[in-house]
Amino acid sequence: MERTTDVLIIGSGLAGLFTALNIDSKFNVLIIAKERIQNSNSMLAQGGIAAELNNDPILHVSHYDDTLKAGSYLNDKIAVKFLVDNALVAIEKLVELGVLFDKDEKGNYLLTREGGHSHKRILHSGGDASGYNTTKSLTDILNERPNIQVIENTIALNLILGKNKECIGAYVLEDDSIFYPIYAKSTVIATGGIGSVYGSTTNDLSATGDGIGMAKRINAEIKDMEFVQFHPTALYKEDTKERRRFLITEALRGEGATLVNIEEERFMHKYEPERMELAPRDVVSQAIYREMYDTWTDHVYLDTRHMDTKFLEKRFPTVFKKVFESGYIMGLDLIPVAPCEHFMCGGIKTDLLGETSVPNLYAVGEAACTGVHGANRLASNSLLECVVFGLSASKNMNETLNKITLSKVAKIEPCATYNYNYKPIRKKIGDYMDEHVGIVRNKEGLELTESVLLQIYDNLSKSPNLTRQYFETLNIVTTALCITQAALKREVSIGCHLRIK
Ligand SMILES: Cc1cc2nc3c(=O)[nH]c(=O)nc-3n(C[C@H](O)[C@H](O)[C@H](O)COP(=O)(O)OP(=O)(O)OC[C@H]3O[C@@H](n4cnc5c(N)ncnc54)[C@H](O)[C@@H]3O)c2cc1C
Repeated sequence: MERTTDVLIIGSGLAGLFTALNIDSKFNVLIIAKERIQNSNSMLAQGGIAAELNNDPILHVSHYDDTLKAGSYLNDKIAVKFLVDNALVAIEKLVELGVLFDKDEKGNYLLTREGGHSHKRILHSGGDASGYNTTKSLTDILNERPNIQVIENTIALNLILGKNKECIGAYVLEDDSIFYPIYAKSTVIATGGIGSVYGSTTNDLSATGDGIGMAKRINAEIKDMEFVQFHPTALYKEDTKERRRFLITEALRGEGATLVNIEEERFMHKYEPERMELAPRDVVSQAIYREMYDTWTDHVYLDTRHMDTKFLEKRFPTVFKKVFESGYIMGLDLIPVAPCEHFMCGGIKTDLLGETSVPNLYAVGEAACTGVHGANRLASNSLLECVVFGLSASKNMNETLNKITLSKVAKIEPCATYNYNYKPIRKKIGDYMDEHVGIVRNKEGLELTESVLLQIYDNLSKSPNLTRQYFETLNIVTTALCITQAALKREVSIGCHLRIK
């Protein structure tokens, strides 16, 4: 069995969907999703999407400056300018495709603020259901596009290279059992984040760094992997074994919530007296880490007790409900929170058109490293990155697809299938990553982790197995190695990367 298409998109999050919907209808697009179409980090996004909604150059400069400042100026300045300047067009496209952002009674967009933003510029939808509403609107219109086909429960295992080392598609495994190649003129990696590389994360647990693993195996350039963003305020539960942690949006702090330590004292003035709780995430997470260390505990609190419960319930319906189910009432109780893995700022290096270092291979969304985030992502810039760079990648493909001929490989030899359980290995990797490659890192811990990971990688490489579990584990360890080795190389602290020795 095999399939052929003009464009193969691996992943059905915002980046994959938006790229697909902007490909000319004369080209066939095949989207594969390793689970159901709605399983993605995009669906989980709460806060919203950052964008300046008019062409006022002062506002563009302000978004540009905030992005650079949050990224400790390690960002690619041209990419940041591209992101900011193309935001309005991308948002208009989203609205054209049916996305509804929240408005006031007069029809003006309601904007909010998050950490690192100098003013309110974040659009949201359904209060704190921004990702769900945006992604759902896009999946709902896929039926109206006969050129787009979606295959669910199908995981891409490896990318296929042609004679000239160009990408000609991917090997996939459908329904855990049917292995076959999909040949495409252009292939787009839209596989999202890396949450499952760590022991605890805000991500959907299907985020196993597959795009990075696959790209690394064909020697595509990977960049900025040491910059893993830890979200400061994931809901804390004592003695839980749940790896996925519920995120409490930063927009809550944008609306006035504060942080207090276990002694119920505000502390952000010690670390960032000016921006306090609305400092960028790297600063807030590192401050929380310090407070937890100093007070011998593993969490701090979000304080909303000075805020109106009714307002909080209306403005943050998803968070309110989840927090309530965990035994706390927003507006009345302190809410325990702690940082955990949230976002990969680096990834597969791309240019402004989404092209990677491998011909005919694109990367969009969180799997890509466009350079916009630098050493730490500015809040709500990632959904924006998905749409701005998804749009430019699709425009580029619309112009180039006719010049590419579909290629195939002569012979495919799938490896054997064994019923092995990789969960203990994954747990071990997560534990090492949490302990030594988390918010605070040192040389000794990084070297120890590297040696453990190399051993696991070596063992896995020697015993290939045609299962989803195997390839995910291989991608997890590959991604973990990329992060650890990049963290070892960068000896000086910057942004999300804090080295104490
Ligand atoms: C809880 C949470 C809240 C967030 N809030 C915000 C916010 O308010 N604003 C903001 O800008 N950002 C936010 N982010 C970050 C943002 O949601 C993500 O960076 C963004 O949605 C990534 O989109 P994506 O399309 O690249 O990946 P995803 O949305 O994660 O989609 C990846 C897709 O790839 C599929 N996939 C993965 N591997 C394979 C494979 N091997 N084969 C086939 N399919 C595969 C997955 O199943 C999924 O469909 C948040 C993230 C989380 C986790």
